[in-house]
Amino acid sequence: MPKPHSPIESRPSRTKIVATIGPASSSQTQLVALLGAGVDVFRLNMAHGGPAEQEAPLAAIRAAAQSVGRPAAVLTDLAGPKIRLGEIPGGQLVCNADDRVQFVHSSSLVPRPSSPFPLTTTYEPLLDELVVGDRIMLADGTVSLTVEEVDTDGAICRVVQSGVVRSRQGVNLPGVKLSAKALDETDRRNAVWAAKNDIDFVGLSFVRKADEVRELKALLAEHNPETQVIAKIEKPEALEHLDEIVAAADGVMVARGDLGVEIDIARVAMAQKEIIAACNRQRKPVIVATQMLDSMTHSRTPTRAEVADVSNAILDGADACMLSGETAIGEYPCEAVKMMHRIAMETERLHAFTAEDVFQNVSPLPKEEGAIALNPITESTVAAAGRIAEELGAKVVVVATASGATALSMAKNRRRVFTLGVSDSPATLRRMCLYWGVIPLAGAPIDDSAALLRYIVDLGRAEKLLTTGDRIVLIAGTGLSVTRHNMIVVHEVG
Ligand code: PGA
Ligand code: MN
Repeated sequence: MPKPHSPIESRPSRTKIVATIGPASSSQTQLVALLGAGVDVFRLNMAHGGPAEQEAPLAAIRAAAQSVGRPAAVLTDLAGPKIRLGEIPGGQLVCNADDRVQFVHSSSLVPRPSSPFPLTTTYEPLLDELVVGDRIMLADGTVSLTVEEVDTDGAICRVVQSGVVRSRQGVNLPGVKLSAKALDETDRRNAVWAAKNDIDFVGLSFVRKADEVRELKALLAEHNPETQVIAKIEKPEALEHLDEIVAAADGVMVARGDLGVEIDIARVAMAQKEIIAACNRQRKPVIVATQMLDSMTHSRTPTRAEVADVSNAILDGADACMLSGETAIGEYPCEAVKMMHRIAMETERLHAFTAEDVFQNVSPLPKEEGAIALNPITESTVAAAGRIAEELGAKVVVVATASGATALSMAKNRRRVFTLGVSDSPATLRRMCLYWGVIPLAGAPIDDSAALLRYIVDLGRAEKLLTTGDRIVLIAGTGLSVTRHNMIVVHEVG
């Protein structure tokens, strides 16, 4: 049945779409069009502007979702310990192989005669922490340098891989363990702004260990208990502490852009599988990000490799796929979303789902109680309901949920049948926008199972999605012994 409140022309895909908002996509008209094309979650990147720049697009997102009559979640990313180049005089610097480039403190921008190219970074302690032999990658890894000399004035580096670097581009130091704090004052200010403005997810960049996630969660909780943390996995240290980070976070992003610089790029696809598997074991939503349809930034059609990448992320078990520059600064934002939606529909149509099939090799569902945060009664009930729904060819599974956890568990069972996530909490409805195969539904009565079923049947009939003989599976609580979901109802439309 899955279509309530859905303006998507065809049908929603089970796989969710996250779209990064930027100059190409921040007007309300464009946002409405993106929702129509299939976007579930909008991303505002605070690495490129603080609250002052985000307020207008945030208001436009809310207005667009309102006008379309469908919840949309918002994710904002904090820059975290991301190092960027300072301003380069003239805007860019051409680095030729074997050139010597000097890093200096931004306060003492005095080049040495032997080195005509002084660069500064946003991370002041960098020069104290660099040692001879360190590798520095600039501009997403296109330019690489090695440190040859370090003294009190700065560091002299030699260009190993040539290219052009521009002001404020990223600086990565693969393998170098920096002392940078996870959250600086700007990040903390931005996080508080996000919590106070009911942002659903705050992405923490360059996470290294679980404590950093907990620090952000504690800060957010002071201002808004509903705001959740997405840990962006883009450092080798994060892979070393993956399970603890996943446990501490509410969700995860496979941030392949920086990950592909911080670790050997040849390892990225396998790291993606490992991260997704860890998230599915622990019942945490997971987003695959960066360059998914990169060529569509300037082209109406993607490459074959990009189409395969989106399909494979879905087969790996991702909840959502993300668009970055494609929707933020690209020439074809709507086309990119529609393409991602079509790839998802085709992948879902042809693939035999169920968690047992999809995660056979990568992520066995944990059998032992306590392996995950979810209540074991809820877990078993959800698993059984999904099986019943499939055996009986049910049109939809309905879950009335306060926090969204039961709907998330259903998503992780990866059933072909859609889940309607019913809640009276606007935050929960928005959160479920990220969950695979879950369609949030507002306005249904949640306290009385019989009334809820009647409501769904009426809605389904009115929308011509349900007809006599169709089956619905409802997961609810009996209220008899536990407050958790512990009851499965199979209803046949009369
Ligand atoms: P970013 O994160 O776009 O904020 O850098 C995603 C990534 O690194 O892939
Ligand atoms: Mn990144």
